[in-house]
Amino acid sequence: MSAPEKTVFELIVERAIPADIVFENDRVIAFRDIAPQAPVHLLVVPKSSEYRNVTELAAGDPALLAEVVAIAQQLADEYASGEYRLVFNTGSSVGQTVFHVHAHLLGGHLPEG
Ligand code: 5GP
Repeated sequence: MSAPEKTVFELIVERAIPADIVFENDRVIAFRDIAPQAPVHLLVVPKSSEYRNVTELAAGDPALLAEVVAIAQQLADEYASGEYRLVFNTGSSVGQTVFHVHAHLLGGHLPEG
């Protein structure tokens, strides 16, 4: 059986494609979304490609999920006002396009609607 196709986030972790990286440690990477939906729109991404969504991450490695949330707060303090929305799209019908768990960190003034 052939290996599953890599997601764009796995390629970013491997530096196979470029990204505007704002944070990185052994387990988590964060970078600017290529199509920002808010003045500050970062993606906070566990490096492991084992988890497709936040439900799988919460079940498989709750400490890593807690780390993602703590890093989001740290980045919101640094790049926004410290207040933010954290969005985990889960499922294609609600807009998930990359099946490698990631948090959208949205800060600053949000569009109307
Ligand atoms: P989802 O829709 O899966 O919740 O979020 C995927 C996000 O990844 C989208 O907001 C999209 O703009 C972003 N994205 C897709 N491809 C790339 C890329 O190559 N680089 C960066 N920085 N973001 C990407």
